[in-house]
Amino acid sequence: SRPVALDEAVGLLTGAHQVVLLAHVNPDADALGSALALGLALHRHGAQVQVSFGAPEEPAESLRDLDVAGLVVPHHGVAHVPELLVVLDTGSVDRLGPLADRAETAGTTLVIDHHASNSGFGTHYYVDPRAEATAVMVLHLLDAMGAPVDLPTARCLYAGLVTDTRNFRAASPDTHAMAARLLVAGVDAEAVTRPLLDTHPFSWLSMLSTVLATARLEVGEARGLGLVHARIGSAHVSGGRQEEIESVIDVLRTTAEAEVAVVLKQVGEHRWTASMRSKGRLDVAAAASALGGGGHRVASGFTLDGECTDILDRVRHALADAPLLG
Ligand code: 5GP
Ligand code: MN
Ligand code: MN
Repeated sequence: SRPVALDEAVGLLTGAHQVVLLAHVNPDADALGSALALGLALHRHGAQVQVSFGAPEEPAESLRDLDVAGLVVPHHGVAHVPELLVVLDTGSVDRLGPLADRAETAGTTLVIDHHASNSGFGTHYYVDPRAEATAVMVLHLLDAMGAPVDLPTARCLYAGLVTDTRNFRAASPDTHAMAARLLVAGVDAEAVTRPLLDTHPFSWLSMLSTVLATARLEVGEARGLGLVHARIGSAHVSGGRQEEIESVIDVLRTTAEAEVAVVLKQVGEHRWTASMRSKGRLDVAAAASALGGGGHRVASGFTLDGECTDILDRVRHALADAPLLG
């Protein structure tokens, strides 16, 4: 496995006749939007293209309109021996779920990612932790390939930018300029953003009230900066859409008294997936890594077997050891 610069990544992409592009499990708009934007360019370049992810069967409802060319295939339909495998927005190979084996069987595996914690898997990796979204890196690749950034492509990239920068609150001037370019290409910001960030069924309100009733504030935790946590039971996790489940952390992290917010989602009888967020003073990627997961300094996650109360104890310990950010 070795790092590659932009030019070499472009050479690998444009040289392949058959390409599989993979996003991480439960793909968000950055993972799927990046895979679709790049997949569309390679498809137009004449390659045979599949876009997929290990779970669930279909993309989240709010992401389905991005696939204008019908490139997405369910994970069981993915070629077993891709000539070129491109893995996007994925920090470690286990985040591919049941498709992790393709990183072994493919002729070449190119990883394109912006996680600081990227493990450097694949035969080649193009990783830039300074990029605010994988979509930023994909736009640079498309420009270097001479691929047109038309409206369907621009929508995919805008969706990635708006999600990973929390509606541009965390975006640099360069990323704002990039967004402006995508708007000039015809993106309707409101139409792309509303289904991604602002749309839930009425039943969401009762789910939220049940889940928020489990919220607890612990002002002494997280190095005295405060921890707020809540849990989502299996009935709501398996019965709801990804959009509703993932909205809970965005409510929790508004808590003024807490630097860190954690939502535990029950994905099995004794198995929980966690989302962690910090406001920028504590490194929650380090805390998640200590628990077998990973992510970004301000947004991370992990999955553990055990009971909710025991996992919360481990979270408190991991946060007590997490580095302060400058
Ligand atoms: P979310 O809470 O939105 O599911 O995840 C936030 C971020 O944490 C993701 O962008 C991803 O980088 C990271 N993440 C979440 N779960 C895991 C995990 O199990 N392993 C690793 N390595 N990263 C994770
Ligand atoms: Mn992602
Ligand atoms: Mn991302």
